[in-house]
Amino acid sequence: MIQRTPARIEARDVSHLPTSFCTASDAPAEGQSWQQILSNSVCRPEQLLERLGLPVETWLEGAKGGHKQFPVRVPEPFIQRMEPGNPEDPLLRQVMPFADESLEQPGFIRDPLEETTAFQTPGLIRKYKSRALLMVTGQCAINCRYCFRRHFPYDDHRLSPNDRREVITALSASPEINEVILSGGDPLSVNDRLLAQWAEMLDTVPHLRRLRIHTRLPVVIPQRVCNDLLAWLNRSRLQKVVVVHVNHPAEIDSPTRQALKRLKDAGVTLLNQSVILKGVNDSSATLSLLSETLFEAGVLPYYLHAFDPVAGAHHFNVSDSRAAEIVGEMLEHLPGFLVPRLVREVPGQASKTPIPVNS
Ligand SMILES: *Cc1c(COP(=O)(O)O)cnc(C)c1O
Ligand code: SF4
Repeated sequence: MIQRTPARIEARDVSHLPTSFCTASDAPAEGQSWQQILSNSVCRPEQLLERLGLPVETWLEGAKGGHKQFPVRVPEPFIQRMEPGNPEDPLLRQVMPFADESLEQPGFIRDPLEETTAFQTPGLIRKYKSRALLMVTGQCAINCRYCFRRHFPYDDHRLSPNDRREVITALSASPEINEVILSGGDPLSVNDRLLAQWAEMLDTVPHLRRLRIHTRLPVVIPQRVCNDLLAWLNRSRLQKVVVVHVNHPAEIDSPTRQALKRLKDAGVTLLNQSVILKGVNDSSATLSLLSETLFEAGVLPYYLHAFDPVAGAHHFNVSDSRAAEIVGEMLEHLPGFLVPRLVREVPGQASKTPIPVNS
């Protein structure tokens, strides 16, 4: 997930795309597949306002600029966890464009991570010694307002079969890589047939030990953890790690817990990464509750990302000193294993950069 790299993925192979997104917006019927839920996502700001009983006249005008830059997209199961009538709802704030997005702010830029330069071969990003990032799609199931992708929504691009072979050739020639991270976009927005092919190809690279998946999908559409997904995960000889992305405890409801349990029962190690966001989770009370809630669901906190200065998202900005203070307070109240590492991605560094915490 959070690897918001603007993919210059060249060739298109659209045969693996789920059928078109955002076709309707009725509440999901029982027993819908994840693909149906995905294609029924809310994708207009006025739909989202109506669903939550918020006055359209008050909020729509301010939403237009942001929506034009980076369209609204929210699957129904995520909306169901929001509090109707509350414009400050921490889940709503993550997905609803507000007027603040249209204000220019010096220092908030389009590609602060300079990731356009890091491609090894189309789809493969290599910044760290032992891990490589594989962008299997630019598509996400949910459009998060604070994400870099807002400036590079390369939705329907896929790697061609030839690109895929080149990825495997590049990995085979790099014995120091022992872990491949499926990223995007959201790699689980791709269908299981294609993902199973990837997993099989990765299995053949002898020095690979781990397969990691960075995804928001098991949380935003719990139905995504389906039998087909578990089947290819189980077939792979690699150790599996799934890093989900949850920012607020209210994102975890009972279907999400069940989905996470299915992954855990399949032997997957579950971790979480969050972004510290003003008005969403910028307090030690909220983040501590998040850690406790995650742990109850079988997930350990991994990273808390300091906010990156993305243009259009400055209203989420939390200063590093405030973030350090918050994590310092968490250290006082939680066991060490429930305190995420506060980090930032600094271009050119050999790993994420830890931010010193007040303790
Ligand atoms: C964050 C990131 C990783 C993974 O880093 P870990 O510290 O192992 O979680 C790998 N590659 C890239 C390009 C990244 O941005
Ligand atoms: S799930 Fe959200 S944060 Fe993650 S890449 Fe997609 S838009 Fe960005």
